[in-house]
Amino acid sequence: MKKTALVTGGAGFLGSHLCERLLADGYRVVALDNLYTGSRANLVTFADNPDFSFIEADVTTLPVPTPQPLNLTFTEIYNLACPASPVHYQARPIFTTLTSIKGVLFCLALARRDGAKLLHASTSEVYGDALVHPQDEHYWGNVNTIGIRSCYDEGKRVAEALVADHIREHDVDARMVRIFNTYGPRMHPHDGRVVSNFIMQALRDEDITIYGDGTQTRSFQYCDDLINAFRAYMELPKDRVRAFAAEHGLGAPVINTGNPGEYTIRELAEKTLALLPGSKSRLVSRPLPGDDPKQRRPDITLAKELLGWEPRIPLDDGLARTIDYFKSVALESGRQPSTATDGHR
Ligand code: NAD
Ligand code: UDP
Repeated sequence: MKKTALVTGGAGFLGSHLCERLLADGYRVVALDNLYTGSRANLVTFADNPDFSFIEADVTTLPVPTPQPLNLTFTEIYNLACPASPVHYQARPIFTTLTSIKGVLFCLALARRDGAKLLHASTSEVYGDALVHPQDEHYWGNVNTIGIRSCYDEGKRVAEALVADHIREHDVDARMVRIFNTYGPRMHPHDGRVVSNFIMQALRDEDITIYGDGTQTRSFQYCDDLINAFRAYMELPKDRVRAFAAEHGLGAPVINTGNPGEYTIRELAEKTLALLPGSKSRLVSRPLPGDDPKQRRPDITLAKELLGWEPRIPLDDGLARTIDYFKSVALESGRQPSTATDGHR
């Protein structure tokens, strides 16, 4: 009997990679998505697989407990539904917070109903504009409750609290991953995040938009490395992930995933141009958006110890693969970005 997985946000950048991997691992996969930032184009390579099905639905409007057609029994649930790019989550901030909260409640209810394992996609944004560096799982964060990033950050923080309380109150078999900036093929060309913006701008000879002075840092993880961590974490039994969290003084099972290589945004722009030497783009400055974190790098000690995992794809390789994707798909299919507006908030 095949295992059945639900992936909310399954038509998104990361969700589609996860669906593809689960199908390769022999699962029946149901992707649920409202196509806000995701797209059916992300599903084409496996949409015809008889083990795959897609449900177009919005987690903010789904009743809990769930109706048809989700009257399937799930073995594993991966909760990825939520716009992740600042441009898109800030365009619909109330919807973003509600997506985090209602989406995780929906997944927790399903997990309780089916006795399923749940992996919740949290984020490095729970650390906010961090005052400790690098960020480890014990850090409680420095988050503005009323700023333009709060809809995302606080929604994700409440979602973590809901997962932790469902573990304590209802013994749900849940675990959480705090994802640091992750990039790769199938990011939408209009996505607005820095990697896709810079590549698309360089490919189209447009100005490369550096917000602020470009000295803020990020650590960039290639998508395949993240999916490997997801799968390894989900494979572990409940007792193991709980005991590990308790040994490390964490109130609930949570790990960071990311690539600890740390780069300034200006360095990322220079790397992108070095990989596209024919580009005529120039680096230009744009205003720094509010509450933009200054320095971010994951401490991945716990993920290494628990999963025997570490990221394998260096930034140059991952960027080259992502550039190939944007060249072959985004430009040719006419999914053209208008980076002047995407990149400028
Ligand atoms: P994405 O925007 O490509 O994917 C999110 C998906 O969720 C999209 O397909 C979107 O249509 C869907 N969605 C949004 N709201 C929904 C709703 N109300 N109902 C149903 N579907 C909805 O972004 P991504 O980078 O693939 O992110 C996936 C998850 O990983 C998100 O939860 C995000 O917060 C988390 N994450 C990603 C990163 C990263 O760097 N990529 C970092 C931290 C956390
Ligand atoms: N950024 C930039 N130019 C862009 C897009 C983003 O300089 O065209 C900066 C942004 O201000 C932030 C960093 O790049 O400091 C990462 O931004 P992104 O939106 O990718 O993700 P974040 O980590 O901020 O959520």
